[in-house]
Amino acid sequence: MTGPEAMIRSCDGVYTPREDSYLLSDAVMRIAKAGSKVLDLGTGTGIQGITAALLGCSVTFSDIEEKAVECAKRNAELNGVSGRFVTGDMFDSIVERFDMIIFNPPYVPSDALNEGVKGEDRALLGGVKGREVMDRFIAEYKEHLLQEGCALIIETGPNGYDKDMKDGAEILAKAHYFFEDIVVLKLQ
Ligand code: GLN
Repeated sequence: MTGPEAMIRSCDGVYTPREDSYLLSDAVMRIAKAGSKVLDLGTGTGIQGITAALLGCSVTFSDIEEKAVECAKRNAELNGVSGRFVTGDMFDSIVERFDMIIFNPPYVPSDALNEGVKGEDRALLGGVKGREVMDRFIAEYKEHLLQEGCALIIETGPNGYDKDMKDGAEILAKAHYFFEDIVVLKLQ
């Protein structure tokens, strides 16, 4: 641990931080630099963005679910940090660029197409191979990075994370939970 840990209260209908979240927030703690501009996409309870804000980053918290944005706002207040709070689908309401974009996408493989997924399942179910939302992110994130910026994203073995191990991508953390490997990828 290299920084203060975020205090997080869970909220009804919002993904409560679990092992994947902590693997990611540990990586955020290791690499976030004070003063940098950070986007926490799919913020949920706000854990990633609050972790970055506690380290002195200037953070935009965004989620497709209004109640997640409200939850992140409450948790930010609890931790004495401020930020910008945005409700929107992926990058639709985001115009600026960032030093770091953090994303814990819905990565669980599911037959349900993402459009039909509602409520808390939206934080989990990622369509075919769990890549539906992840692939949208990968197609778009570079347009929202400043020079030398990076994206931190969670992927799993079943998602076939090897596919994204190119163009200077690094594995910042790896853990085995239940039946699968979970990795934090740093993408340039
Ligand atoms: N860890 C969650 C689960 O296995 C998945 C979270 C996610 O898709 N980001 O249920």
